Amino acid sequence: MKNRRNSLLLAGLLALSLLGQAQEVPVTRCASTERDSVRLLKNPVLRNLRMRSEGAIQNYLREQKAARTHADEIVTIPVVVHVVHNRSDNVIGGASNGNISEAQIQSQIDVLNEDYGNTSGYKGFYTDSLAVDTRIRFKLVSVVRTYNTASQFSPITDATKLAEISPAWFTNRYLNIWVTRLNDRYLGTSQFPVVSELTDRTQGLATTENEERDALTDGVIIDFRYFGRNSDAITSRIYNLGRTTTHEVGHWLGLIHIWGDATCGTDYCDDTPVANTKNETTDISCSPVYSQCRGNAVTRNMIENYMDYSPDVCMSVFTNDQKERMHAVLALSPRRAKMVEYSRISTDGLLVDIYPNPVRETLTANVFTPDFENYTVSVYNHKGQQMTGETVNRTYLNVRNFPSGLYFYKVKTANQTVTKRFVVR
Ligand SMILES: [Zn+2]
Repeated sequence: MKNRRNSLLLAGLLALSLLGQAQEVPVTRCASTERDSVRLLKNPVLRNLRMRSEGAIQNYLREQKAARTHADEIVTIPVVVHVVHNRSDNVIGGASNGNISEAQIQSQIDVLNEDYGNTSGYKGFYTDSLAVDTRIRFKLVSVVRTYNTASQFSPITDATKLAEISPAWFTNRYLNIWVTRLNDRYLGTSQFPVVSELTDRTQGLATTENEERDALTDGVIIDFRYFGRNSDAITSRIYNLGRTTTHEVGHWLGLIHIWGDATCGTDYCDDTPVANTKNETTDISCSPVYSQCRGNAVTRNMIENYMDYSPDVCMSVFTNDQKERMHAVLALSPRRAKMVEYSRISTDGLLVDIYPNPVRETLTANVFTPDFENYTVSVYNHKGQQMTGETVNRTYLNVRNFPSGLYFYKVKTANQTVTKRFVVR
């Protein structure tokens, strides 16, 4: 009797442990909307800008449609991956190691190019006619590894902290991706673009002060356990193919969740069917999910869309409207537009542009180096005295405490030097 009870207990425990293996701890795919709410709450001016942004995007899309212009040019986005890990011995790669391998990083870049190029090979319920090549590509430029004692970060409030630990490379030239361990079971998060120059696109794409305040955190943050595919550090069976980053980069390019973050809400794309809510199922057989949004009509959700919450294996679609929207943001958002402008330059020369000049408070610098070559910045007064220390913020120089007068802004690469004069008033 006793033995029988024991064996029953054992069987029960075995069943429980098998269940434990089969089921993953529930996670929340994306913290972008939450992060955005916090950001807008802190900054009412930005909230107004955002509302006007949507109008600007829609106007742009209408103009493009009227002119029968399509976004066919391929835009290649240079990517910098910041690995922020707490592995004090700096060992790279292996199970549960946030200091992820180069192969894992490269696999994520491959996934981005496959997904944005519509070459992943997986076709869901929707056919090729709805999935398009977005004409956006990604190129890994650098990996920056930084040890930090923190074991995890908040995807909603720690963007600034991460950017202090591993500062963004120019956010008007690169897509910065911070890879670390996130808390609250979030997989990733992103900073939405702001389209702030609505009235005059010819104004040198200068950004407003409000927009610049967020420049240092502009990018996406991904938990290392969901970054890339086929790696020891990836243990999820549901979020294992790198689509978390595909999704977050979609936000970074202005895409909205397909249910519009509201019951039957809008994502401003006509070719993504309206959906009751997110697909938070962990069903990797990708069974259809239905909505009833308009009267009695039942429609099937596009759970294959990268901007839903579906398991990675179910995702395979960016639609044409999503593609056009991303290109509208690339044209209208000041930092994104600058990035595209740089990506079109083909010269061996070092280009430096500083403004405004004369300046009272903040001098902004745009620097183009061929082949993403690294460079240093130093600033001198007219007597040749250096005004800046070892670490200079290379995008914004605060000159409020500089005496009025003439100054020199010197940019140096291994082989080239460019010096620009500016006046502080
Ligand atoms: Zn999202």
